[in-house]
Amino acid sequence: MPKIKNVCVFCGSNHGYDPDFLKQTNALGEYLAANNHPVVYGGGKEGLMGAIAKSTMDAGGEVIGIIPTFLSEMGLAETNVTTLLETSTMDERKDEMLRQSDAFIVLPGGFGTFEEFTTMLSWSQINVHQKPIALFNINHYFDELVAMMQKCCDQGFAPQENMDLFIDAASIDEIFEGFATFHHQLPYKYTN
Ligand code: AMP
Repeated sequence: MPKIKNVCVFCGSNHGYDPDFLKQTNALGEYLAANNHPVVYGGGKEGLMGAIAKSTMDAGGEVIGIIPTFLSEMGLAETNVTTLLETSTMDERKDEMLRQSDAFIVLPGGFGTFEEFTTMLSWSQINVHQKPIALFNINHYFDELVAMMQKCCDQGFAPQENMDLFIDAASIDEIFEGFATFHHQLPYKYTN
């Protein structure tokens, strides 16, 4: 596994109702700053997105925000970051987030977060990248999503081995243990 420097964090543009979501997001920002992992994220100031940027910056870390111009023009960008990059489209933003990152952590979030997770996972399973992806499954938030993905394997839409392309982690320690032992291995994608 190549060394992990920049870590991309995908997360909600809302805080969600469980106070542990914000608490653990702040803990992650502090951890990433303390361990010299620059944070790449979607550049927003709202919700958990704003929290990961603020907690990392407040702890002396580095934050690279990548936001499409149309969201920035709506006043949604967090300007207190080390670097703020603008892209023309949402798709260009995701390409740039992939280019700038060595690993992905997915925090609780909404449809946008699910889309970012499944994009990076689906690109991993066709070898567009080989980077580790961790779901930070705070208080079982992602259990139903993981169960749906298992059903997808059970029903023949993905090989079982593809469940190993992401780490289902309940804590920050589990995320980084998973990153340390991650090995990108692809079976033949088609089940029949
Ligand atoms: P969601 O999980 O639906 O809240 O969406 C989070 C993701 O969608 C972010 O990572 C962004 O890609 C995008 N997004 C949605 N709302 C915003 C916002 N207010 N500022 C920046 N990005 C946003």
